[in-house]
Amino acid sequence: MIITIDGPAGTGKSTVAKNLAEDLGYTYFETGAMYRAITYAIIKYKVDYNDKTALKAFLDSHPVTIRTRFNDKYYIVGDEDVTGYIRSKEVTDLVSAISAIGDVRETLVTSQRELAKGVNAVFEGRDMGTVVFPDADVKIFLTASSEVRAKRRYNELIAKNPSLTITLDEVLQDINRRDAYDASRDISPMRPADDAIIIDTSTLSADEVENSIINITKEVEDRPLTNQ
Ligand code: C5P
Repeated sequence: MIITIDGPAGTGKSTVAKNLAEDLGYTYFETGAMYRAITYAIIKYKVDYNDKTALKAFLDSHPVTIRTRFNDKYYIVGDEDVTGYIRSKEVTDLVSAISAIGDVRETLVTSQRELAKGVNAVFEGRDMGTVVFPDADVKIFLTASSEVRAKRRYNELIAKNPSLTITLDEVLQDINRRDAYDASRDISPMRPADDAIIIDTSTLSADEVENSIINITKEVEDRPLTNQ
């Protein structure tokens, strides 16, 4: 069974997807981290991402892979563990532009479909239900007001790094900028699949959202098989 959870930043996607996977005994894949990992490597190796040939050569020689150790995920590009760098401001500022490039998406979508083979999994991202897994068993799209999303992201950032000097307004602007970019790009824009269930998480706790998804998943599991 494949469950996809898409939606913009700050909707609680990662928390819900991670808890859901853990409670169902499924594997959890955070595809935003894969886009962040390749973005970091492109910055580090000063790859000219406007040069199609150079970018393609880099992507082919630097596959993004994931290693799991004691429930923690590590993101590897080529043979380098880049996990510690993928949430930096530099990466966050560039990731949407890199994610809008066709060759980048093609490479990562292929890897994501490989990762799904033979496992029960929760895939979290922006285009999981629309492009990567159009036949997923359960498709969820999370939304929330941009103020709520900014507050959540702000609290997360401050919890991780209490000395961070960032304002709520800066976080709000960053979220709005990235969402606008992600939703308006030509290739795989962020949007709910036609058959996705949309949940507004503005006034819901992570547990409440997870419970709704568990109920939806149970309904799908209990559905009688039809001959087609
Ligand atoms: O999920 P997160 O906010 O870490 O994702 C970072 C960026 O990666 C998003 O803003 C988006 O540009 C890109 N992304 C994407 N497709 C996905 C997951 C993430 O384009 N499936």
